[in-house]
Amino acid sequence: MPFTANRQFKAAPRLLASARGMYYRSHDGREILDGCAGLWCVNAGHCRDEIVAAVKSASEELDFAPTFQMGHPLAFKAAAEVAKMMPAGLDRIFFVNSGSEAVDTALKIALAYHRARGEAQRTRLIGRERGYHGVGFGGISVGGIAPNRKTFSGSLLGNVDHLPHTHDLEHNAFSKGQPAWGAHLADELERLVALHDASTIAAVIVEPVAGSTGVLIPPQGYLQRLREICTKHGILLIFDEVITGFGRLGHATASEHFGVTPDLITLAKAINNAAVPMGAVAASTSVHDTIVQGGTPGAIELFHGYTYSAHPVASAAAIATLELYRKEQLFERARDLAPAFQQAAHALADAPYVKDIRNLGLVAGIELESRPGAPGARAYEAFVKCFEAGVLVRYTGDILAFSPPLIISEEQIGRIFDTVRQALSTIQ
Ligand code: PLP
Repeated sequence: MPFTANRQFKAAPRLLASARGMYYRSHDGREILDGCAGLWCVNAGHCRDEIVAAVKSASEELDFAPTFQMGHPLAFKAAAEVAKMMPAGLDRIFFVNSGSEAVDTALKIALAYHRARGEAQRTRLIGRERGYHGVGFGGISVGGIAPNRKTFSGSLLGNVDHLPHTHDLEHNAFSKGQPAWGAHLADELERLVALHDASTIAAVIVEPVAGSTGVLIPPQGYLQRLREICTKHGILLIFDEVITGFGRLGHATASEHFGVTPDLITLAKAINNAAVPMGAVAASTSVHDTIVQGGTPGAIELFHGYTYSAHPVASAAAIATLELYRKEQLFERARDLAPAFQQAAHALADAPYVKDIRNLGLVAGIELESRPGAPGARAYEAFVKCFEAGVLVRYTGDILAFSPPLIISEEQIGRIFDTVRQALSTIQ
């Protein structure tokens, strides 16, 4: 099973049998309030009629169409709709099937871009410690979560370096929203440029808000500084928005939220409410044109793509989802709910074992003191207690993470954090 302690799970399985709106139903018939939008992805809530209908009708109309040297209308319509939600200038969309594929695709586009410009020696990729960019070899190379790398590090994890992460509880514990401390850590990029020389560096990739490592919010001014340094040295900036894309921070993208425009954005998950696997890369017009105009007419410009790129059913789900986000103004709703969400999360500051709480938009992390000799055990037990009490939260290490569907009510927000408080008071 993916990222699962197989033997532990099989001894006491947790099965989700159905879902609707804010709730899952477990195999033993219990309602489970979804505090993490599945896996940060079901932003419009579960089994929405509009998306179900779109999936059904696309399945009946066009089950599959190749997109190599071919196309189909839903692919181009979905691309146009995604582009409309991207920051101005990032209007070229390449579809894939997951966040991991989006990351590998973005890294390859960065290399192709520099080669097309006559700078083929720019091959180094810079990620960040504690970054999560999926599980492809590209993603784990630039990723910075040690257990995801160490088993696989012998073979392909090559020409990369990493920025330091921005997490320091001495300076930014219990920050509400963006921490005031830490923008200077972006200057570490200048150090890496001095070390390797800009002429060898293709791209920097970061999650604007790091999710999977346990919710790290960027310090004020940090992303702006990264942008400036990348621009100065001709390095492409990639925002991995697989989690932050489509409303999590109250805007279509984190780029829009922070007012920082990268050259490439990776997307997945909420792009179609996770109804069908899909991801995408949004590229700037200039990156696109450099690659496409730089090629020989009649020849393939980018040797890359997947059988299921822009799958008709996934494309239909994306079109219906983006329409639903707009119609129900779900990004605005997330923005409006953010203060209540922040208040409810930070109310746990005095709960047992809590050593940090951090949040932005509709995402929050609660970091616990680790049990001596058993890192991760406490958060795992809290997660199990919450599940038994009918609330789904996520845990990573000793951090609990929260990212509910954007349709959540204030009362449901209260219930999630009350349940966590209760769980923390019953574990050791
Ligand atoms: N990038 C980020 C920032 C993610 O959070 C994730 C998944 O959580 C991925 C990439 C990988 O996405 P997937 O699991 O769809 O391959």
